[in-house]
Amino acid sequence: MSEVLVFDNLLKRYHENKLAHAFLLETNDISRCYEDVLIFIKKLCCPHTFSIECKENCNLCSLIDADNLPSLITINPDGQFIKKGQILDMMEKFSTKPVFTNFNIYVIREAERFNSSSANTLLKFLEEPEDNILGIFITNNKENVISTIRSRCQIFSCYYKGNIADNLNDDILTDVKLYLKAIYNNKDDLLYNKTHMSGYYSDRKDWEIFFNTMLYYLNDCYSSDRLDKIELVKNISKCNLVKVIILIEEILKYIKSNGNIDLILDRFVIEMRNYYE
Ligand SMILES: [Zn+2]
Repeated sequence: MSEVLVFDNLLKRYHENKLAHAFLLETNDISRCYEDVLIFIKKLCCPHTFSIECKENCNLCSLIDADNLPSLITINPDGQFIKKGQILDMMEKFSTKPVFTNFNIYVIREAERFNSSSANTLLKFLEEPEDNILGIFITNNKENVISTIRSRCQIFSCYYKGNIADNLNDDILTDVKLYLKAIYNNKDDLLYNKTHMSGYYSDRKDWEIFFNTMLYYLNDCYSSDRLDKIELVKNISKCNLVKVIILIEEILKYIKSNGNIDLILDRFVIEMRNYYE
């Protein structure tokens, strides 16, 4: 999901009282994701309606910017790992209720860098979650996060299109749009894969760029008024567009994990049929 979707979704959950005690954000850009997490925290905690002007006029937002809010702790790996001592320090500080905010919040950057002793220490915290403690874990690969932690988090992916846009190539975008047009509501979509797409790119990396371009384009169609929206985008609901975006993220994972490209394309067109209206 694009960052816009993820943080909108989290805020919505918060207002519906459905925010989990801990969530894991998988991202392609840890620094940008961390910046967005801080904005998200300001939106949760700011006593005014958070706005960019809060920077100057709001004590709480200023404390967050200065990394001086007692109820917010960011943990970075100390050397190669996140150490047990860092977790114990945080737990001690959070043994009292927060004063200025509704939550004590910890943010773990590079959550894949727990070792077993720091993970075990944190686990006690995760197993008996308290209402006023919120944990946010950021990683660039959730598969590398110790499973005992991962399994206790709600997981979201947060992809920044800036990185993808760097590789965005107009020719590939044209290919993407032609492909989506060709399979849209086409009963012979599987045949189209066979006759037109099989072997279209010989290199797996090129397929990755192709689907990343598709992801970028559809995310952008979701969050802005692109003039070059194709029929498929115009005709499906926003809700289904989000599902298509999630499907493409899945497809990218299969490509990265060496799945057979012809089978992946077939899976893609079959699942896409669910979202045409
Ligand atoms: Zn504020």
